This record gives sequence, structure tokens and C-alpha cells, in this order.
Amino acid sequence: MESLTGIAVSSGVVIGRAHVLDAVERYVPERRIPEDAVEAEIERLWEAIGSVLDELTELRNKTEQELGADPAKILDFHIGVLQDPTLVSPMHDRIRTGLVNAERAVAERFEELARQFRGMGSAVFRQKVNDIIDLDRRVLSKLLGQSDNRLEQVSEPVVLVAHELTPSQTASMDRTKILGIATDAGGRTSHTSIVARALEIPAVVGCHELTSVIQTGDQIIVDGETGKVVIRPNEEEIKTYRKLQEERLVRVASYRELVDLDSKTLDGTNIELLGNIEFPDEVATVLGNGGNGVGLYRTEFLWLTNDHSPTEEEQFESYRRTIELLEGRPLTIRTFDLGADKYTQQRAEEPERNPFLGCRSIRYCLQNLPMFKTQLRAIMRASAFGTMKIMFPLVSNVMELRQTKMLLRDVCEELDEESIPYDRDLEAGMMVEVPSAALMAKVFASEVSFFSIGTNDLIQYTLAVDRGNERVANLYTGAHPAVLQLIKTVVRAARRKSVNVSICGEIAADPIYTMLLIGLGIRTLSMVPAQIPVIKRVIRSVDVEHCERVARKIGTFDSERQVLNCLRDELRKVDPESSITTNGDS
Ligand code: PEP
Ligand code: MG
Repeated sequence: MESLTGIAVSSGVVIGRAHVLDAVERYVPERRIPEDAVEAEIERLWEAIGSVLDELTELRNKTEQELGADPAKILDFHIGVLQDPTLVSPMHDRIRTGLVNAERAVAERFEELARQFRGMGSAVFRQKVNDIIDLDRRVLSKLLGQSDNRLEQVSEPVVLVAHELTPSQTASMDRTKILGIATDAGGRTSHTSIVARALEIPAVVGCHELTSVIQTGDQIIVDGETGKVVIRPNEEEIKTYRKLQEERLVRVASYRELVDLDSKTLDGTNIELLGNIEFPDEVATVLGNGGNGVGLYRTEFLWLTNDHSPTEEEQFESYRRTIELLEGRPLTIRTFDLGADKYTQQRAEEPERNPFLGCRSIRYCLQNLPMFKTQLRAIMRASAFGTMKIMFPLVSNVMELRQTKMLLRDVCEELDEESIPYDRDLEAGMMVEVPSAALMAKVFASEVSFFSIGTNDLIQYTLAVDRGNERVANLYTGAHPAVLQLIKTVVRAARRKSVNVSICGEIAADPIYTMLLIGLGIRTLSMVPAQIPVIKRVIRSVDVEHCERVARKIGTFDSERQVLNCLRDELRKVDPESSITTNGDS
């Protein structure tokens, strides 16, 4: 028996057999294969190369038709390299004599080739290195894609173990086959963790070395409450965790009793509780947990779970379906937040040096206008079917917002010309996720109908701590006085202009922050649906004056430790049970 401690990101305890997955882009593990698997591995390599060749040929022909013969020649180089026997035969040799997996053989051969090109005297050849990297990615993603299919063939439910998962891998998981997740990398608010919570799959991330000490078939316990992962547990250990599973079931059942009760403080102040969703079908979970609508619909998951760009019609259908499922309750739809970690493997064509500071979210949309306009059209068309608001992610300067609003007006004009109905009073708001936006909230407040504070990103950009990096996860906290200062600035600016302000980052789902947020003046919280009853319970145990006193006291502290200690004490006083489930460092 061996145990590791990671970061608990999705609650629940599971005991099962591990399935170790090595399908992660850029992480190419060496897997030993038995001698009798060599031919099948080479066949897999042929298939991957063949299908990349088909894709490239199609792309070449399309480029020639649309842009002419010269641009199409670039792809001739790609095709020529892939067809060259001197590229492929060393890969075969490596598999045959080294008994390694095809992914490893491919990665090593392309690395060698890139090194050769880099070392060439001519600048023209040196530039070809990027083409080599592109080819490497294309072939690898085919091979890794096949590994994913192997996951689909898992017949019994398993606990998935991986170095890292992409949000799209997590999002496309079959809930009946994946009992739990444990990964080496990741942080509490990384998008994979968010999706695991949405799918209610118990998960622990940031376990560092897990994949090197476990094998497929080993028994494993994943405790999504404490972050503990036990490998090859003994009888005693299994008994203890079975008991914990039962206790948790009782606790969850007690929360169910809160579903139909009002979300009001003791003095009668209403706090609106909404759900964060990634897929239309999650509306049922939001309503089932007593949510009053959707405060954040992460539409980019439509891309992440598809192998093609969603068309206007496909998007329209998803948005309309979501609105209809809500039966008159409000829906806040967020435009695509693609980029950073939210790419499909196919779309990670050009790696950025600092993807979280790069072309993501609204920046990505404004650089891809046809795609953005298609989404805005689909959203506006769906707005005719219910109560909807639209919001834009990661706005960092006022020009981005103005350009986006102009685009939205263009789309409305087009719809007018085509006599297509839409909601003419649709409210447009923005997410506050970057310190520049929070500091300039006064200016932004004159331009939008509402703010939604995305603390997951706001924390990472304020504290310079990557939200998905387990090595700095101890520095990532919403209790940092700098983060609280920014929230206060936004609330104050919003109040002056009578602009509504909500929180949709993960701190909204953590009971330790509830009193503080109410005390700071927040009246709308949007969160992973399963946490709605937990937060409601705290709301029903406090009064606003008390919360304001707590917020004032917190305002005098200069460290996150003091903030967390005070919040923990206050929560324990009003709702001892919720204090068990708090994370306290979202
Ligand atoms: C946030 O950043 O707080 C947020 C809600 O958006 P996401 O987690 O999707 O980046
Ligand atoms: Mg965000």
C-alpha cells in the first residue's frame, strides 16, 4: 500500500481499478510493448501516417482552389517529408528493436529531424523546423487519438489515471465508465477539474508522481474530499473508505432537503443562486439542486467536444435548447473562451510561449471574426426563445469591449434585414477576470449592463499563479487581500452605476467565502450545480449585518492566512456542517 496526496477537486470517494492513460499532447511517454505486439504497433503507425497524408492532400487541394498554386506548395513539403522512407523506416526500427510504443518512436524521429534542420546553414531550412513540429503534432495526435479510443473500449468502470487530461478529454468521458480521476498535474480551477465537478466525477489532481507508481489494473482509492490517493490499499484501508462513502451519502441526502427552500438570509435578503454549465443537459442538474437559472454557460465546450467547428445551426440548436430547458428562468451565455488550455488537440497548431497571456478568449474571437460573428448570430437568434443575457470573457481594455459591442450591433442589423426575430433588450455584460478590468471597473460600468467576476482567472492574473500548475497551487487563493481589494473595487463601481455584479468563479461554490461575499455586497452567485444546496445552507444561517461586520474585519488583514482563519471560525459558528466541506483555498 502506498498513498499520495494531491488536490481534491471534485468530491466523492471511489474505490476501483486503475486505468492508466498516457494520451496527453506534448507528453509522450515511453511504453514498453511485448514482442508479439510489434506488428500491430507498426500497423498503428502506418494508419496514423496514412490518415495525416489524406488530410494534408485534401488541405493541399483546397488551398490550391482557394488561394492558388503557390501557397499550396507549402503543403507539398509536408506531404513529401511524410512519404519519405528515410523518415519512416527509423521509426519502424525503433519499434522493432527498442520494443517501444509508436508515439515514442515518432516523437524521437521528429525530434532528430528538427535538430538536423536547426543545424543547417541556410535560413530557409531552419524555417522548416516549424513544419517538422507541425507534422510531429499531426501524427502524434492521430496516435494519441487512437489511445483515447482504447479508453472507449474499457468494458468495466475504472478510475482514470493520467499525467494530465485536456478539458476536451474530460468533457467527452462516459460517466458510467469513469468512476473517478487522478492526475499528476493540474490545479483546483484548471478546466479539467471544473468539468470533473460538473460531471460529478470524484477527482484528485496534482499528485505529481502518481503515473510512475501505478499500473493499469491496480486497485486504487481516490478521496475527492481530502485529496488522498491510496494505491493498492489493504483490507483495513478499504473498510475505512467504504465507511466514508456511506457517511457522504447521508450528508448529500441531507442537502437535498434544502432544494425547495428559499435562498434568503435570516433578515430576508434574497441571494440569487445560479448554476455554471458546460452542456445544455446540465440544466436539469441546476434545477434539481434548486438553482434559479444559469449564470455561466461555457459555450466553448461545444468546440472542445466536437471534431469540427460548430455551425451556426448547431450552435443555435444548443442555445435554444438550453433556454427552453430553463422554462423562463434566466440564462447568461458566455461567448467562446477558447485558447490557453481550452484547445482540442487538432487546434493546438501553433503553441504559444505563454498561452494564458496569449491569444485567448475575447482576443481569439476578435482575431477570428467570421467564427465570432457566427456565434453572435446563433446567440441572438436563440435570444428570441427565453430570458437571456450575453457576456464576454477576459476583457482587458475598453476598446475590446467596444469592438465587440459594435460587432453585436452589426449582427443585429443583419438579423433585422433578414427579418429574423431576437431579443432587442438583451443585456450585454462582461466578465471581470483581469486586474486591468477590475481597476477600471468605473469606466467599464458605463458600458455594460452587468459584471460577472471570474475569480478563477482573476486570482491567477493578480497573483501571477498559473491556475493549473500543481507546483504553485499553494500560492493560489481567493483569500489574498489583493484579490479581495479588486472584488471590492468592482462592487463599488457597479453600485455607483446601478450595474448588477455577480461572482461565477469557484469561490462562489466554496462555503468559506459565502459570508464575506455577501458582506462585500454580492447578491448573485453562480457555481457548479452540486454546491448550490451547500451554499444555500450557509445563506440561510446568516444575516447581512453580521456578514458586513465580517467583511470589514477581513478588510483590516494583510495576509491570506489571517483571512482564511477568520472565515473558517465565522463559518464554524454559523454552520458547523458546511465547514467540513469547505475547500478554503479556491
Ligand atoms: C473564471 O475565470 O472565474 C471563470 C468563471 O471562467 P473559467 O473558469 O471558464 O475561465
Ligand atoms: Mg475565466
